[in-house]
Amino acid sequence: MKPVAWPDLFRQLPSVDELLRSPQLAPLIAGEGRFAVTEAARALLDRLREQITSGELDALGVQLVVSGIHRAVEYELQRSYSPSLQRVINATGVVLHTNLGRAPLATEALDHVREVAASYSNLEFDLAKGERGKRDTHTNKLFQRLFASVQRDLATIVVNNNAAAVLLALNALAEGGEVIVSRGELVEIGGSFRIPDVMSKSGATLREVGTTNRTRVADYEQAITERTKLILRVHRSNFAIVGFTEQPSLEELVALGRKHGIPVMEDLGSGALMDLRTVGIENETDVLASLRAGVDVVTYSGDKLLGGPQAGLLTGAPELIARIRSNSLFRALRVDKMFYAALESTLLLYLRGQHDRIPAIRMMSATAEQIAARAQALVARLREMENSAEIEVRPGESVVGGGAAPEAKLPTALIALRTKAASADTLAARLRAHRPAVIARVEDGSLVLDLRTVEAEDEAHVVSALIHALA
Ligand SMILES: *Cc1c(COP(=O)(O)O)cnc(C)c1O
Repeated sequence: MKPVAWPDLFRQLPSVDELLRSPQLAPLIAGEGRFAVTEAARALLDRLREQITSGELDALGVQLVVSGIHRAVEYELQRSYSPSLQRVINATGVVLHTNLGRAPLATEALDHVREVAASYSNLEFDLAKGERGKRDTHTNKLFQRLFASVQRDLATIVVNNNAAAVLLALNALAEGGEVIVSRGELVEIGGSFRIPDVMSKSGATLREVGTTNRTRVADYEQAITERTKLILRVHRSNFAIVGFTEQPSLEELVALGRKHGIPVMEDLGSGALMDLRTVGIENETDVLASLRAGVDVVTYSGDKLLGGPQAGLLTGAPELIARIRSNSLFRALRVDKMFYAALESTLLLYLRGQHDRIPAIRMMSATAEQIAARAQALVARLREMENSAEIEVRPGESVVGGGAAPEAKLPTALIALRTKAASADTLAARLRAHRPAVIARVEDGSLVLDLRTVEAEDEAHVVSALIHALA
């Protein structure tokens, strides 16, 4: 067929009016209404015109589309009514992938959300006394049990995320005063959370001390004035400073704070509730360690290493937490029943020692051997149906992600594919177009999948997505 200029191809498309008058669309209009069908027809025709202009659709393509145009309108309409937010299969091996929603929730948490959110609940109602209660009591009690070994009174409140927790705490504890922070800790966490900016929004003044690589206790002490309201330690969640470095221990900071009557707060970010060495992650501190060191307030995320819903948690001395709680920002940043339900169930799993029921923890715990066995089995299934691609299983590394444990590398087994028929980027795009979408990595011209972050029951979807992508 000789090339046809695109104005000519445009003329082969029916108009919206023609489509709406066609008897084939009458049942759809009767069922879904004229307005919805008009919108769908218009969206479809707009897209076809774009595809013609960009050269994606040639004369033959236009003929094909036009012959099935009524079905295409119906399909477009269905698509317009399906949610945009959808589940995806994370084959990147990044356990806490912020763009992919960080921690998947435990089944127990989901069941509890469903039960509580589908009905009324005792969110702020004391069932024993029959009077108004507080929403934080549900999780506060559980945190107290989890931190019982610290042997001091502690209270915990929940807000929307850790960024909110830091903003709220700074405003409640240091508005109008100064907060001392090491220059090595003025971090930016993705999505425009920068310590200096949050500080100025909170109404507190940042007092930087030390240098990027070295800060001593004496630097903090020299900066203390009558305006000092808080000493802040910020966890270097997403980077590491190596080489000629120095940073006072938390205990030293706490001792300094006590000496001058100034509270010490730590923005821990990732906030693990367990010793991560048990899952092979070294050098990552956890909430208990921070509380044991005597830190007055710790803030951390619910959906990083904790493996629960998005939330910001503030744990610390009851009088400080009470001050934070009575700040009017708390009301603006509070969370709803679904967060509490998901968080409570996740905390119960910790209390019962059932860490392997928390997906993020289970995924981090998987060994390279276990992942290699799954990868080999998946590759064997793939080879039964597909033999044009070069496929291998090779050792590699998964990362924790989500601004947690930047240096931790978890040994894994990667499935690497390449084919002459399509580039790795094209294959990755085809996997994303599959439903459920599969998100893979592209490395050195290969498509790379890491099963660490793929649930076993999703492997069949991965196989079918790969077969379609390679076809
Ligand atoms: C991740 C992180 C934050 C932001 O937490 P969100 O829950 O994403 O709002 C703040 N501070 C540190 C140190 C972090 O690691």
